[in-house]
Amino acid sequence: MDTSRTKDFRVAIVGGGVCGLTCAIALAKKGVPVDVFESAGEFLEIGAGVGLGPNSVRILRGLGVFEDVLAKSTDPDLNMNAFRFISGYEGHEVLYDNPLPKEDCGIGILRSACFVVPAFAFLNALVGHFDKSKAHFHKRCTNVTPSAQNPSRLVLAFADGTTYEADLVIGADGIRSSVRSIVTGRPSDANLSFSNTIAYRALVSWDQLKDKGLKTDLTKGMTCFAGKGRHIIVYPINGGKTINVVAFVTNMDGDIPVGNGKLPLGAQWVCDAPKDELLSKYEEFGSDIKTLLSCVRKSSKWSIHIVYPPLESYVNGRIALVGDSAHAMRTHLGAGAGQGLEDGYVLSHLLGHPSANANNLEQVLQVYDGVRRPRAQEIWERTARTGEIYEGRGPSGFSPEGFTKDLTYNWECVWHHDLDGDIQAAVKQLEEAGVF
Ligand SMILES: Cc1cc2nc3c(=O)[nH]c(=O)nc-3n(C[C@H](O)[C@H](O)[C@H](O)COP(=O)(O)OP(=O)(O)OC[C@H]3O[C@@H](n4cnc5c(N)ncnc54)[C@H](O)[C@@H]3O)c2cc1C
Repeated sequence: MDTSRTKDFRVAIVGGGVCGLTCAIALAKKGVPVDVFESAGEFLEIGAGVGLGPNSVRILRGLGVFEDVLAKSTDPDLNMNAFRFISGYEGHEVLYDNPLPKEDCGIGILRSACFVVPAFAFLNALVGHFDKSKAHFHKRCTNVTPSAQNPSRLVLAFADGTTYEADLVIGADGIRSSVRSIVTGRPSDANLSFSNTIAYRALVSWDQLKDKGLKTDLTKGMTCFAGKGRHIIVYPINGGKTINVVAFVTNMDGDIPVGNGKLPLGAQWVCDAPKDELLSKYEEFGSDIKTLLSCVRKSSKWSIHIVYPPLESYVNGRIALVGDSAHAMRTHLGAGAGQGLEDGYVLSHLLGHPSANANNLEQVLQVYDGVRRPRAQEIWERTARTGEIYEGRGPSGFSPEGFTKDLTYNWECVWHHDLDGDIQAAVKQLEEAGVF
């Protein structure tokens, strides 16, 4: 239902990444007037592949954008139909094999147009669903303050000296969010920490791997090569022609404890990684890993940061956070983007509710926080525990028995969460409080 003519409030989203743009589409589809302000010159994401689990797929389907995402990728259908865990060490023993039923399949896709041809882009598929006239580029938000004329409205200030007035602001400006500091009242990096983990990212041609004699078939779904203090996640994209590689190395000594906020790569979080360095990190791994890494032509090195300590609230007055700005987490469940999509989906249902209006936005956001923060934090914590399992520090040990015990049902709460149930409970709460 398009209620745009009846809504008496306007939303401004800061940040047009995956979560900001999905949130904008969800709000617009609910008839909420929404503009997106992005600091870059276009909707663009740096990175390689992204894996989206069944919870993300359900949201994209619910928004009516999933078929376009599939159409923009070269995969005709969900391609994440298995998740195998294999020892990274010689012999490459299978530790745990998790063939996924149809309803649990996900998709691995390239993120953006900048990496390869536009036909593979995730963001490109989303862009087609958002009114271009509502997307504003080169708009780096520097502050959000109450309007002098009407203190219940908010004024966004941008680095280019311009301003924009809205009734509600959503910070979707990623892990180094500016809006977060406005919500918390603390500097943005007060809730930012190094996770103790470095990720090397690369794309490798499957044909080349076959020619080099790789024994493990990497085209059938996700594979995790597990080892002590390091693991490698690989999955097919681009119709199985390309293998997305994310190789993790964790500082086991813990001499950079989580929480101290130090950046191990200086101010640079992402930089090029020399191939020798990548190979040297996996010297103890077996022949398939040596083959895989020898085929890497170009790799980047990411210092994985997280939102930590967790925020006490995602909301302050009429300002709310979604996605990484609220809860950037380790990558081990492939759940970060999905949690941001869930934020936007819930928010769009609450703000798009026929009873949401300019007078009750603060109460609506409080309920959003109450629903989303425990859920996202639960996944944040599970993600940390999952990394420990992959790297030989799980409670049941580094063995097929240990992996089976620790990983069976590990994704249930990520993938099978009843998000619509959350929305219904939130609406009921607002009704019982007399807000709706
Ligand atoms: C190595 C790695 C692998 C990952 N793999 C997965 C995976 O497989 N599955 C998964 O679900 N997640 C994965 N993630 C996590 C996922 O990438 C993030 O959770 C997701 O991209 C967050 O989206 P976002 O829109 O919140 O933030 P971002 O994608 O960071 O977007 C923020 C946007 O805001 C803009 N911006 C920033 N500041 C301002 C400002 N002041 N004003 C205006 N605009 C601004 C930026 O230009 C950017 O476009 C991975 C992350 C990493 C690092």
